[in-house]
Amino acid sequence: MTIKFKHGCVYQDFFKLHPRVIEIYGFIVFYCNIHYEITPSITSMLRPKADDSGVHETGRALDFSEFEYNSGGIDIVKTMTKKAIKDLLSIVNDLFPREDGKETLIYHDVGRGKHFHLQVEYHQSWYNNERVNIALSKERRAS
Ligand SMILES: [Zn+2]
Repeated sequence: MTIKFKHGCVYQDFFKLHPRVIEIYGFIVFYCNIHYEITPSITSMLRPKADDSGVHETGRALDFSEFEYNSGGIDIVKTMTKKAIKDLLSIVNDLFPREDGKETLIYHDVGRGKHFHLQVEYHQSWYNNERVNIALSKERRAS
């Protein structure tokens, strides 16, 4: 299993995402490899709040494509079928439900082309966990 990115993604940002996002995306790649022989490529991870509601800024969301890009992230080598897109939405939302009733995985267009948007809940994010932020701060390491 491998992970693929569209050109322009900062690969290292993947490891800054909420663990639940990484876990669910891992399932998605496995599932799509097995059933559709495709690796839907990551198109966007962390980005500034000015761009959207702020959910990407906090590492709670990840965007990926119905396309598989080549290793350089520029050329499309495979595309999911309409049925595969529909099935993936259904299985992910069924297996990984959110407590707030919203869908974990949606397929939408917010001005940058149709793509999958994977999102976990606010309280699940370690980016918003004060104790984690303290542990990661330089001030703590210095004392
Ligand atoms: Zn998104």
